[in-house]
Amino acid sequence: MTIGVLKETGTENRVAILPAEVVAMKKMGIDVLVETNAGERAFATDSDFIAAGANIAERIEVISGSEMLLSINPPLEDDINTFKEGQVLCSVLSPVENSSWLEKARLRGLTVLALDLIPRTTRAQSMDILSSMATVSGYKAVLEAASLLPRFFPMFMSAAGTIKPSRVLILGAGVAGLQAIAIARKLGAIVEVFDVRSAVKEEVKSLGGKFIEVEGAKEDSAAGGYAVEQTEDFKRKQQELIQQRAIASDVVIATAQIPGRKAPVLLLNETVYSMKPGSVIIDLAASTGGNCELTQYRKNIVVNGVNIIGKSDYPSDMSSDASKMFGCNVINLLKILVDKEARLVLNMQDDIINGTTATHGGEYISQRVRQMLNIK
Ligand code: NAD
Repeated sequence: MTIGVLKETGTENRVAILPAEVVAMKKMGIDVLVETNAGERAFATDSDFIAAGANIAERIEVISGSEMLLSINPPLEDDINTFKEGQVLCSVLSPVENSSWLEKARLRGLTVLALDLIPRTTRAQSMDILSSMATVSGYKAVLEAASLLPRFFPMFMSAAGTIKPSRVLILGAGVAGLQAIAIARKLGAIVEVFDVRSAVKEEVKSLGGKFIEVEGAKEDSAAGGYAVEQTEDFKRKQQELIQQRAIASDVVIATAQIPGRKAPVLLLNETVYSMKPGSVIIDLAASTGGNCELTQYRKNIVVNGVNIIGKSDYPSDMSSDASKMFGCNVINLLKILVDKEARLVLNMQDDIINGTTATHGGEYISQRVRQMLNIK
């Protein structure tokens, strides 16, 4: 089998695999065709890919010469007509955002594997692209906050006096939030954390964060370890407590999300107006509406002297290591998709493959995609 690697379009700097992953694919008996300059912005040259065993070709040849195509973002909607029926596309899909893209791909008879739909199970952990990219975002969010903040993160005792450590408030202790706690603590800040899942309490403490509990959080074991929508009474209590802690903070890293829904609003307008000028809010939930009422997706704004960062493409900023992690996750997925003769075998009895296959043979397959798109 030949797998093609497409060059990303727009402002994306990552590439789906780096040369080291080409070596791994060659060992699996897979030939790799990489689009010219695909790795350029992740600091992997065409020569690096060739040295690892890949062939380089123009986009049109990569598309026509590959059984399966890999990319980080789905190829442009206009590209769909250039794909052949039965061809496999593998990328991070965001099915709701790209529903018309997906419908076009289904009608074209393409098999679409959505990497963001890989089940969050123990067996699929090594393929979990969402976790890898959230790790990058949590790390980079803290560094961005530290560089924007007009204060030190750590405590300083010097001849010029003592400087108090900064206070960082983390909203949501999922993968990005836990990484943000670890990095903010390493930089010497005092860290306080809110989450609605009691399971994260011990993890927060073990990373050196203070978990602030709001009584009455709703949890649902059927939600697969994810958060669920809270009651109005809980939301009000939580917003009040967050307001108190935000006023005392220098930085807020907001990561709270509820799968398939709008992000919960945790930082109200009045909270931002009561925060110290010079403070920084990094809203990693911006793409799903934001945890702060004032966040503007992909924009950096200043309100009452508070920086509100609605950027969400930190993995693209960390193109080298983010591509490395992405590629490793892809290789681990290929290990269950490809047989010993290097043939692609889509075993729909496998929960990972079934859950990840958005469309195949003109049908919507994944139950989660069907739910998200309201398909009976
Ligand atoms: P996410 O991005 O959906 O949410 C981030 C965090 O926000 C979560 O911890 C959530 O509880 C929290 N949150 C939601 N609403 C909130 C509110 N109103 N107030 C405060 N916090 C709120 O989550 P994620 O980082 O993708 O993962 C969440 C969990 O999923 C993990 O901690 C883990 O239990 C599970 N998970 C499992 C695997 C695996 O086994 N392969 C991989 C990744 C995640």
